[in-house]
Amino acid sequence: MSALMQTYARLPVTFSHGEGVYLYDTEGRRYMDAISGIAVNGLGHAHPAVTAAIRAQADKLVHSSNLYRIEAQEQLGTALTQAAGMDNCFFGNSGAEANEAAIKLARLYGHHRGVKKPAIVVLEGAFHGRTLATLSATGNRKIQAGFEPLVSGFVRAPRNDIEALRQIAANNPDVVAFLAEPIQGESGVQPLEREYLQAVREICSQHEWLLMLDEVQTGNGRTGTYFAYQGLDLVPDVVTTAKGLGNGVPIGACLARGAAAQVFGAGHHGSTFGGNPLACAAGLAVINTITQDRLCDNATAMGQLIADTLRSECAGISHVSDIRGRGLMLGVELGRDCGELAQRALEAGLLINVAGGNTVRLLPPLVINESEARDLAGGVAELIRNFD
Ligand SMILES: *Cc1c(COP(=O)(O)O)cnc(C)c1O
Repeated sequence: MSALMQTYARLPVTFSHGEGVYLYDTEGRRYMDAISGIAVNGLGHAHPAVTAAIRAQADKLVHSSNLYRIEAQEQLGTALTQAAGMDNCFFGNSGAEANEAAIKLARLYGHHRGVKKPAIVVLEGAFHGRTLATLSATGNRKIQAGFEPLVSGFVRAPRNDIEALRQIAANNPDVVAFLAEPIQGESGVQPLEREYLQAVREICSQHEWLLMLDEVQTGNGRTGTYFAYQGLDLVPDVVTTAKGLGNGVPIGACLARGAAAQVFGAGHHGSTFGGNPLACAAGLAVINTITQDRLCDNATAMGQLIADTLRSECAGISHVSDIRGRGLMLGVELGRDCGELAQRALEAGLLINVAGGNTVRLLPPLVINESEARDLAGGVAELIRNFD
């Protein structure tokens, strides 16, 4: 431990292996995983299709270089852009990198339009990553403090406030894009309203801003459609994703459509590892499995079951102030800070996490079945009932 920088306050447990929605610690104890490595293991642990794809690719070629064509990258690019309704994509290795690509794309788009200091509208409560540009885009002072000077070129707006955005549009000719998560994850599972996002789409189109959605957490089936915007009747210009795309193999992507898809040319952006054969083989197995096994539909059904069970079991509990979310991205907000619940849940054999200080966040694998979903909801309800 002492050899590691203390960037995480870790819970005192080490996992040795997993299967489906369960993880096992080094003592052999079993845990129901309701966090999936923070929305990463959508197919659960040790999914045979992903394991087989990694194994087969590792036997042939782990890495070549983006100096050459990469078959698995081209195949994943086709599958992902089709799933998204986008024209093309760029592969990196993480969510922050996917957002860096989007931020660079927006700036270059602005410069092409003659805007000398292009700005991007971002929201209060947003989380976009930990690199300098993405933490500057993030709407959380705790994440920014100590790392000033921040990257400039971001304009902050309150969420779900279309009047505030109209004001920005009227007063700020430097704005070239709007970036937001359809459901804010880190700040406590805070959905943007459908009407708000549709109005944002309209404003973006009117002003030729790029509508850029950060689907790093909400993407890859998590909310019951492949991307969350597909449940909102709108199409963005740029989409970023990462977490669930490789089921644990690091990969991220920035997808674009229309004019946004024409912005980057040779030399504008790059990544040594991005889209390497191993990561793309894993990504392809993930996207194919999500489609073949109808995991988006399962996320909708199981998410409904968990939310309904929680609503009925928490009905009489006065310290539960809200239950919200979509698909298998759910939040149970309590009337006060509840960070210690992660430890208590661990002791009870359940892995959850607390986001935004007072909200229990549930992100179970998309493969969860009915009896597992009932167990999960029952376990969470009991935990919350006893937290008084
Ligand atoms: C996790 C997350 C990121 C950052 O992803 P990393 O892979 O940790 O860099 C960015 N945006 C959102 C919405 C996220 O949930």
